[in-house]
Amino acid sequence: MAEINRAVKGTNDILPEESYSLRFVEQKMLETASKFGFREIRVPVFEHTEVFLRSVGDTTDVVQKEMYTFNDKGGRSITLRPELTAGVIRSAIEHGLVHGALPVKVCYVGGCYRYEKPQAGRLREFHQFGVECIGASSPVADAEVIALAKQILDGVGIQNISLAINSIGCPECRKAYHAALKNYFAQHLDKLCDTCRDRFARNPMRILDCKSPVCREIAANAPVVIDYLCEDCADHFKEVQAQLQAAGIDYTVDPHIVRGLDYYTRTVFEFISGDIGAQSTVCGGGRYDGLIAGMGGPQVPSLGFGMGIERLMLTLQNQHIALPKAPACDLYIAAMGEAASRRTAALCYQLRSDGFEVQTDLCNKGLKAQMKYADKIGAAFTLVLGDNEIASGVGVLKRMQDGETTEVSLDALSEQLLQLKNETALADLTEAIL
Ligand code: ATP
Ligand code: MG
Repeated sequence: MAEINRAVKGTNDILPEESYSLRFVEQKMLETASKFGFREIRVPVFEHTEVFLRSVGDTTDVVQKEMYTFNDKGGRSITLRPELTAGVIRSAIEHGLVHGALPVKVCYVGGCYRYEKPQAGRLREFHQFGVECIGASSPVADAEVIALAKQILDGVGIQNISLAINSIGCPECRKAYHAALKNYFAQHLDKLCDTCRDRFARNPMRILDCKSPVCREIAANAPVVIDYLCEDCADHFKEVQAQLQAAGIDYTVDPHIVRGLDYYTRTVFEFISGDIGAQSTVCGGGRYDGLIAGMGGPQVPSLGFGMGIERLMLTLQNQHIALPKAPACDLYIAAMGEAASRRTAALCYQLRSDGFEVQTDLCNKGLKAQMKYADKIGAAFTLVLGDNEIASGVGVLKRMQDGETTEVSLDALSEQLLQLKNETALADLTEAIL
């Protein structure tokens, strides 16, 4: 039976009372990124399925188990994006950005879709903020991208978050590492899950990212890639760390981080929150030097990260970090009678174009009900207009927080409201300081 009154499992509604602080956080992310020169890019919510097969990798959990894939009416195989890097890179190749002045620095906010088991911090529709720094090979770029994630987390006031980094090398170092992994997993082949037995032949590193408890236990003692880095990769990793230290960014090296997407090379990193339970990775990213060439573009080294916005909000909530609330309505005008209602329409229009939030009755309520509503929406001031006020051109503004009243000329309402609003804000500020 269609459940028309219930959102699909694993999806969330953002209600008006939550949306203001969410937008504040997203704005903070975009603003912080722009300080590093990252500009917003918007790409479609769906792509040809091939875009994700070629980038995320066909032996990953994301591709094998989690994608929303369907045929459209034209018979194309379409997938709702499980992440944004693939679409952004497809776009950068399609529009020739990868051939222009490098690096190209872009950032995004958008919905992602994964058919996963919903639980705290794990949804089927979730949102990511992310950045891609396309065409930057230097370890300075790795440290800068990490610094950006850190500055965003600091900027929204998050605490108790740790940074773990690792290097997973390049295809050159992987040859020796894959051989070592195969050697190790060959001894445990009969205990691995079906998916991992297939991965053993095709991409043994993916076994390290399997979520099944048995595979995890076996993977815990597997050789680590950091012991197999070639000289160039080892030097790169050393310099990333020197850069982080110079910038005063604390981190630990965790040789077990491999990340769940195939395109990563060299530096990978995660920011982990201690306050949101098992799904604790708030931000994950790294370098993907082979991705652009793998998707049919030129050989251009790049890197980026994705930050889970719901997990970030959950961390803020669990840490009781207060976020700004939407400003309240400046003025509620209660109009009594036809003439007053018409004058109110004109006043509202004028005041709104002067920048005030003004509301009035839209339901033919009586005066008492209107005042109750004004109180409920938190109006800072109210003004009752009836025939007398229209005739005299004078009304009484009531400040709701203390009931103080001020006579105002309706012709000069905007100026007087502004003055009263400023006086009130100043008084509140003084009180807060004292
Ligand atoms: P996880 O280890 O939680 O499965 P992942 O390695 O699949 O994460 P990425 O693909 O790197 O994650 O995505 C980047 C970030 O997006 C994650 O660190 C997380 O904050 C967030 N994220 C990923 N999947 C989900 C989900 N199903 N629901 C909510 N947030 C998610
Ligand atoms: Mg995952």
